Amino acid sequence: AGDYVTSLRNQGKGELLHIVLLPIMAHGHMIPVLDMAKLFNSRGVKTTIISTPSFSHPIQKAQESGHDIGLSIVKFPPEGSSLPENIVSLDQMSTPDLIPKFVEALALLQKPVEKILQELNPNCLISDMFLPWTTDSADKFGIPRLVFHGTSCFALCASEQMHLHKPYKNVSSDSEPFVIPNLPHQLIFTRPQVPPFDLQEEEDDFSKLRQQMRESVDKSYGVVINSFYDLESDYADHYNKVMGRKSWHIGPLLLCNKGGDEEKAQRGKESAIDEHECLAWLDSKKPNSVVYVCFGSMASFSHAQLHETAVGLEASGQDFIWVVRKGKNDDENEDWLPKGFEDRLKGKGLIIRGWAPQVMILDHPSVGAFVTHCGWNSTLEGICAGVPMVTWPVFAEQFFNEKLVTKVLRIGVSVGNKRWQRAASEGVEWEAVKTAVERVMVGEAAEEMRSRAKSFKEMAKKAVEEGGSSYSGLNALIDELSIYVPPKKQDIN
Ligand code: UDP
Repeated sequence: AGDYVTSLRNQGKGELLHIVLLPIMAHGHMIPVLDMAKLFNSRGVKTTIISTPSFSHPIQKAQESGHDIGLSIVKFPPEGSSLPENIVSLDQMSTPDLIPKFVEALALLQKPVEKILQELNPNCLISDMFLPWTTDSADKFGIPRLVFHGTSCFALCASEQMHLHKPYKNVSSDSEPFVIPNLPHQLIFTRPQVPPFDLQEEEDDFSKLRQQMRESVDKSYGVVINSFYDLESDYADHYNKVMGRKSWHIGPLLLCNKGGDEEKAQRGKESAIDEHECLAWLDSKKPNSVVYVCFGSMASFSHAQLHETAVGLEASGQDFIWVVRKGKNDDENEDWLPKGFEDRLKGKGLIIRGWAPQVMILDHPSVGAFVTHCGWNSTLEGICAGVPMVTWPVFAEQFFNEKLVTKVLRIGVSVGNKRWQRAASEGVEWEAVKTAVERVMVGEAAEEMRSRAKSFKEMAKKAVEEGGSSYSGLNALIDELSIYVPPKKQDIN
């Protein structure tokens, strides 16, 4: 980093390059942003994260373990917001009426964020896609804004082409398949897998926000992507050459964590299970013999779907760790669990209720497959662990990521969910769970997927090593930022 530190002296000001990072209030966005800050740090770049009180804990933890990352706090919900005071993160959007209020609250962050930017006087702002006004804020301060979507380039391309061409309009039924045009692969979807906000014709607060998000990406300096070139090269090229976006693949960001199990165990939140207990359980198992099942920080499953999952896992005969997110309103009565399930499967199946140390589990040699909702962080963590996956997308851009895993990389099989739903209430039966789990765990095809998955794991490692594509991509970005000449600053008042 030494050479970099010298080369990054900013425009003769004798200061280090300073990047401010602004994620939104969701674990799937906050976790990679903290990794990104660590990564920039390790290359001699000063970083500050703007966060809210409820998401500042992991940043403080990182500071305690020696990472030189600044933290500026903004209140959320901000002054003037109509969000109830107890709504502090995106995963609490349990009813549709909260969404416009959340959108409004995000916009109200502009003033406090600009105040911080004025105080910190950074060289660059990297901010979440959900904060389109940050392009204007960065402009005011004469600094570039980079957008962080938190997903794959593959999903960005697929969702843009879906939006542009609306291929779902050409089918006459929900079961008739269609292909998203103009992409490097033939990706086949059906209408119920398309996000409802894409299908809907009338304008509402969310569709307006999405339009602003698109325009702000166009006006921004570029896009940073938590992925690596070799994983999705066709789409990285498509994004740059066909869609005309400037982007840098700088991931997998999670690989910047050089710490041991403790650092891995503490990603995002305090685990609901003692990490030593969890490791001891995994240590007692044979290599590649355990299926890890987790659906991220936001997706919620109905009791019916939880029940089908339980029955399917038991019927698969495989050992498993299953993370069950307890919703705020869940009572302790888990009558969705088949009678005697936990007693019967003692030693064979471990249920973690709440937050699991996911990366630590996935990295354990006993884990042989991952049943995932295809949130991008989880997908990438599965790739970095080199395990085949059962894909069970629920909402957001997860149906796109599923196609990357199953059709392009061919390191997973789909459980067959056919419906985009904010909360998974129905649609996947236990036989499908059993069959999909068996297909990634047992037999020749499973071994082929495993060996392909292992080769992507190796590629991921190489990408972030000195000379690798993400390493060089980050160098190129840092170089560009350090010679960026800001236009004359305007008075922001
Ligand atoms: N995660 C975790 N433990 C859990 C659930 C999630 O560590 O019990 C982490 C997971 O490793 C990932 C993030 O939370 O880094 C979830 O992000 P993702 O994009 O996969 O899904 P989202 O939660 O945004 O739907």
